[in-house]
Amino acid sequence: MAKKHSSSNPNNMISLPQGCPVEGCGKKAKRAGFCEEHFNWFKAGLVNRKGEKPSDFDKKLQSYQRKKAA
Ligand SMILES: [Zn+2]
Repeated sequence: MAKKHSSSNPNNMISLPQGCPVEGCGKKAKRAGFCEEHFNWFKAGLVNRKGEKPSDFDKKLQSYQRKKAA
């Protein structure tokens, strides 16, 4: 019996939701997979590519907000 190639398509990649990966955000991703604000977070090192926060996130956020306000 010949194998049918209908079942699993190798090109059918798991598609991640096209939203900002930062926890509690879920906004539409605009830049590099992040929303506008969290893209800035990513640039500032507040979150990594996956949207995960580092252990010293609070400190980093404070200095980030201080810079932003300046
Ligand atoms: Zn976001």
